[in-house]
Amino acid sequence: MKTASTIKEVRALVKEWKKEGFTIGLVPTMGFLHEGHASLIKRAHEECDRVVVSDFVNPTQFGPNEDLEAYPRDFDRDCRLCKENGADLVFHPSPDEMYHDQHTYMNIDTLSETLCGVTRPIHFRGVCTVVSKLFNIVTPDKAYFGEKDAQQLAIIRKMVIDMNFDIEIIGCPIVREADGLAKSSRNTYLTPEERKAALCLSQAVSKGKSTICKNCSSSSVINEMKSIIDAEPLAKIDYVSVVDANNMQPVEKVSNDVLVAMAVYIGKTRLIDNFSFHVEK
Ligand code: AMP
Repeated sequence: MKTASTIKEVRALVKEWKKEGFTIGLVPTMGFLHEGHASLIKRAHEECDRVVVSDFVNPTQFGPNEDLEAYPRDFDRDCRLCKENGADLVFHPSPDEMYHDQHTYMNIDTLSETLCGVTRPIHFRGVCTVVSKLFNIVTPDKAYFGEKDAQQLAIIRKMVIDMNFDIEIIGCPIVREADGLAKSSRNTYLTPEERKAALCLSQAVSKGKSTICKNCSSSSVINEMKSIIDAEPLAKIDYVSVVDANNMQPVEKVSNDVLVAMAVYIGKTRLIDNFSFHVEK
């Protein structure tokens, strides 16, 4: 497995691979990798001849009062995990390599304005900008994203259609800890007491799954889920919402496919979780 810190190195390697006729899978990450990321890398390794993992804490997707500086980093450990799971190249650029004198940003209307977009108004602009740059640098056949960040996945799918990227987007299921907590690099911020409290997210997901049905009201699902989170003293709800799976807009009734998503502060740490519900027609 190789590592590269410049765009030039990545382009040279990709050019060689394409000459050989190899297909390329891209797994964009912010590093501090865990089994959730590993599942994406493994899937890419199964489906593509060569796998590129980007490992870049992307400054443009963090708001001014967010955790950019504190975000956990461990490049050596990340490289070991990438190698074990079949990556061929880890791209680890500096912020200057990616953003030297950048004036162009990618903005996705509507889908970015609900759910996490309310508390994090510039977040998806940063995500879409870095992902479209990675798409242009790596020119993959397929790119892999986790359903853990379901709004991000929906936005990337829309961006690929709208901007005519010739790339297949593959969504991968949420990987959880044994007790249900969705794996996240940010779980490392939690104290032991907060770690226990954080279980209210996955418990709310389970409650939501058992409550939801075709044509039920969204508020009935939301209220059941909120009652679980509200019972946890260390938890503070940012949002619990039921949105249309395609446009991320809130719905009153579950009559089409929906995403049920939440963001909850456990102490100072903001965690997200979700599930999708398919409505049989
Ligand atoms: P991040 O490093 O948090 O930006 O995540 C990089 C990619 O890994 C994104 O597509 C995430 O959705 C995905 N990912 C993160 N955590 C998980 C998880 N627990 N299960 C599945 N995918 C995940």
